[in-house]
Amino acid sequence: MPISQPKPVSHIDALGKIYRLYDDYMGSFSFACEKFCAECCTTAITLTSLEGRFIDHFLDGQKKAALYQQMRGHLYTPRYQPAMTTNAYAQMCLENKTPAEETPPEPSLPCPLLENDLCSIYPIRPFGCRCMVSFSKCRNTGSAHIDELTLTVNTLFLQVIEHLDQSGFFGSLIDVMLCLGSDPAHMVKKCVTITNRPVTRLMIPPEHREKIHPLLDTLNHILSRTVQG
Ligand code: SF4
Ligand code: SF4
Repeated sequence: MPISQPKPVSHIDALGKIYRLYDDYMGSFSFACEKFCAECCTTAITLTSLEGRFIDHFLDGQKKAALYQQMRGHLYTPRYQPAMTTNAYAQMCLENKTPAEETPPEPSLPCPLLENDLCSIYPIRPFGCRCMVSFSKCRNTGSAHIDELTLTVNTLFLQVIEHLDQSGFFGSLIDVMLCLGSDPAHMVKKCVTITNRPVTRLMIPPEHREKIHPLLDTLNHILSRTVQG
C-alpha cells in the first residue's frame, strides 16, 4: 500500500497555521488584554513582507484598495523603522556582539488601522500585534507585563516567521504595506525596510527548552511541509 505523503502548504497557509498555533497556545493564559484596550496599537508595530502579503491575500478588493490608500496618507507619519530583524539580532548575540539599542519615536502614534479602539483587520493582524499581551492593563502600569517564558515563546515565533519569509523584508506596518501595494516609482523611495534572514540560532534559554519543545516540534513540522507560494 502506498504511504501517503503529507500535503505541502504554501507560505501563506503555513503562516496561518503558525498564527493559529500561537493563538491556541496563548489562549490558555489569563491576560488583561480585551476588546477596546488598544494602547499597544501604535506605529511601532512591525511585520514581515509575508505577513503583509497575508493581509493583502485575505482582504477583498474594496478593503484592500482602502488600506493601501490609507497607507499612502501616512507616508510622512513618524514611525518606528527597525534597523535590525530578530534573526539578525540573534546572529549578533551568537557572535558576542552588542546590538545598538533601538527606540521608537516618542510619542508613538496610534496605528493607522485602529478604528474606534478596534483593529480593522483583527483576524489577519500580524504576529507583532498578536504577541502584544500583558498580565496587567498597560494603561495602569505604563507598560506591558509579561513573564520570561512568554518572551521566549514570542521570540521563537518571530524568528520562525522571519525564517519562513527569508527572501522577504521587514519593517513597520506603514513601510511594508506601502512597499507591497504602492506605485514603486513614487512611494518605495520613502519606505524603509530591511532584509529578512534565516535562523542561525534560536534564542531559547536552557531553562525553557523542555517547555518550548512541543511548540518547536509543531513549528518544524509546518516548515518542513512548506513550499513556495
Ligand atoms: S498589551 Fe496592554 S494595551 Fe494591549 S491589549 Fe493588552 S493590556 Fe491592552
Ligand atoms: S494592525 Fe490592528 S492589532 Fe495591529 S497595531 Fe494596528 S490596529 Fe492594532
